[in-house]
Amino acid sequence: MNVSVVLFTSDLRLHDHPPLRAALEGAREVVPLFVRDRAVTGAGFAAPNRLAFLADCLHDLDEGLRERGGRLVVRSGDVVAEVCRVAAEADADEVHLAADVSAYAQLREVRLRRALEAEGVRLHVHDTVTSAVDPGAVAPASSDHFAVFTPYFGHWSRWRQRDTLGAPRKVRVPDGIGSEPVPSRRGLSGLSPGLAAGGETEGRKRLAAWLRSGIAGYEDGHDDLFGDATSRLSPHLHFGTLSPVELVHRARAAGGPGAEAFVRQVAWRDFHRQVLAARPDAAAADYRTKRDRWRTERTASEDIEAWREGRTGYPVVDAAMRQLRHEGWMHNRGRLLTASFLTKTLYVDWRVGARHFLDLLVDGDMANNQLNWQWMAGTGTDSRPNRVLNPVTQAKRYDPDGAYVRRWVPELAEVAGPAVHEPWKLPGLDRAALDYPDPLVDLSEGLARFRRARERDENRAAP
Ligand SMILES: Cc1cc2nc3c(=O)[nH]c(=O)nc-3n(C[C@H](O)[C@H](O)[C@H](O)COP(=O)(O)OP(=O)(O)OC[C@H]3O[C@@H](n4cnc5c(N)ncnc54)[C@H](O)[C@@H]3O)c2cc1C
Repeated sequence: MNVSVVLFTSDLRLHDHPPLRAALEGAREVVPLFVRDRAVTGAGFAAPNRLAFLADCLHDLDEGLRERGGRLVVRSGDVVAEVCRVAAEADADEVHLAADVSAYAQLREVRLRRALEAEGVRLHVHDTVTSAVDPGAVAPASSDHFAVFTPYFGHWSRWRQRDTLGAPRKVRVPDGIGSEPVPSRRGLSGLSPGLAAGGETEGRKRLAAWLRSGIAGYEDGHDDLFGDATSRLSPHLHFGTLSPVELVHRARAAGGPGAEAFVRQVAWRDFHRQVLAARPDAAAADYRTKRDRWRTERTASEDIEAWREGRTGYPVVDAAMRQLRHEGWMHNRGRLLTASFLTKTLYVDWRVGARHFLDLLVDGDMANNQLNWQWMAGTGTDSRPNRVLNPVTQAKRYDPDGAYVRRWVPELAEVAGPAVHEPWKLPGLDRAALDYPDPLVDLSEGLARFRRARERDENRAAP
């Protein structure tokens, strides 16, 4: 019997899974393998919220495989050494893997190929598993990636998606391949109390509900902070419990302006992935530097701490930061305005904010997090790098009645209507009754500091 190993990474599902389908072809036995990769945990990337969601995903994957006669094999250690070990134990002649974009994933692929080839084992790397349209599949004539979203989206939209694949009916795993217990949520500390449940079953339920009753209102409702009218599918896309190809097909089949607006957002995900695939260093270094001399942990520790804790004195910023801590997730509009506040109003290094988001976000993702932070800091792909979002204007537009702020900042729960966005304007006694800080910085002073910094930097950059 021929045996294949399928190495699961960010593709923790059975539906629409090209590597598993290819491995099963020719009535093969398959070892579905997940390696708890020491390099990932060692790099501090394994935040508790994501570890908990991952545990749910692995349990669900194991259950799905058991329903089909198989099981998940879990190992810990160096991913390359473990794959080689399992391949040898199972006498496998091929390994299947989904392509991925980060520097780490690209290096993992190179190392795996080298090590497996030395053992006479073929590595098959599959496209369109973690992206709807792969990096490089659409590229401008003069470069290896698009740096501007609009032309990218034009090409992306015309790309002919492959058909989706059903989940396999049967998975046969060879006898005698040892596994560690599937990791569990139990024993993990530091979890956000409102953290969502993970797993493919949960993701498919959420997708079905979204297509039935959410997507139609997306175009009008997606920016409404209190309305919470986005899909919340981001952690499922991050862990691959949902296939981006299937998501695009099913959203397009739903049709209408809501679906179009939603598919456009999914294309943003692929856009950032193709930037990171071509420029893996952009996870840590400016994509287009403005030669900022940012304030950092050393020079702005109190401001940074107030931002992290949701005590800036700007209610909408504080509400969003507290949502992040409570749920391990934040509304996109909240991410934009808290990132603008940190990088532009407080003039703090975008990496400080990106790190904090990665510590908490259940969907925390190298491509989407780092490049969205760079976009907002003006060091990324935004064509208006010096734009600054005013938190009061943003709050009045996207939380017009103040309900989002009252939901997350209980100190302000008694302040009615939009006045909640500017507590410093309340009459003296009302203001004095609130246990809520004064604004950390005057907005016009923050703006002036940022403009000075960028002009200085632009002058320095001039010949
Ligand atoms: C500073 C900052 C940091 C971010 N960090 C992350 C992150 O770590 N992981 C992450 O998945 N997204 C990140 N985003 C993008 C976006 O905020 C989230 O994808 C979105 O809020 C997730 O909620 P949703 O699934 O309900 O999105 P929906 O509005 O329902 O959108 C559907 C899907 O489209 C994709 N998408 C939506 N908006 C964006 C966007 N602006 N850029 C790229 N893809 C998008 C996501 O995969 C999302 O699940 C970040 C945005 C900012 C401004």
